[in-house]
Amino acid sequence: MATPIGNLADISPRAVDALRTSSLICCEDTRRTGKLLQHAGITGVRMAVTNEHTERARIAEVIDIILAGGSVALVSDAGTPGISDPGERLVRAVVEVGLVVSAIPGPAALVMAVVISGFDTTRFAFEGFIPRSGSERTKRLVEISKEQRTVVLYEAPHRIARTVADLADHCGSDRRVCLARELTKLHEECWRGTLADAMVHLDQVRPRGEYVVVVEAAADLAPADDAAIGVALITAMDGGADRKTAIATVTAALAVSKRRVYEIATSIPRP
Ligand code: SAM
Repeated sequence: MATPIGNLADISPRAVDALRTSSLICCEDTRRTGKLLQHAGITGVRMAVTNEHTERARIAEVIDIILAGGSVALVSDAGTPGISDPGERLVRAVVEVGLVVSAIPGPAALVMAVVISGFDTTRFAFEGFIPRSGSERTKRLVEISKEQRTVVLYEAPHRIARTVADLADHCGSDRRVCLARELTKLHEECWRGTLADAMVHLDQVRPRGEYVVVVEAAADLAPADDAAIGVALITAMDGGADRKTAIATVTAALAVSKRRVYEIATSIPRP
């Protein structure tokens, strides 16, 4: 079930009922969930740590409780479990043995952020935390740059400036972004502007608190024609790239097939 992402008043009456009547509450951190229980006036329900390290080991116990007629509540530290939080494995295991899994809906930072961003909410892609480094990060950034749905990312405050800079490198500095910070909390804010402006903004403020980054969808570009590919190849080679590098650059930049770029490249006379 979902729990608040910063404002304890957001716990729903149905969530309180379910917590009170559970046989067991699976939670990431008993101190954190203990505070929520205290706020809701719930006492005497057992809690069991269910985090990324212990989730797998908890499965058998949870299934035994349900088979014996009890109910188990699954919560995370904040928001909706299973959303960039533990829960997915436990839910899947319970589903696989044919037991009932039900959800009590409530806060999820991604939903709030995409709704208040002002961008297209008809279709959006949730990326969670993108890989921190290496080729996996680059691959994800390239995918995001071409994504024609609004993109939602989670990011830690000490990494947000770098992520926004990387997004600007891949999506172009004019792409619009919304930085939704400290949602439902005292210092809630929603900053909107281009990725270039966002870099300046994050340089000026010391990023603190929790952020969701919402990136506007890529424009629906018409596929590049042969002439555009040729011009891009010549520009890359004039800039000092060798033929192989130019082919790779143009393939990624114009999102066209490498074979097509290669064929056009071979028709360009070498200098
Ligand atoms: N399960 C949670 C949910 O439903 O949103 C997400 C948990 S994930 C470990 C934590 C990340 O969610 C944070 O780094 C931040 O990106 C985002 N987040 C959580 N609470 C937030 C809030 N109040 N304001 C902005 N972002 C938040």
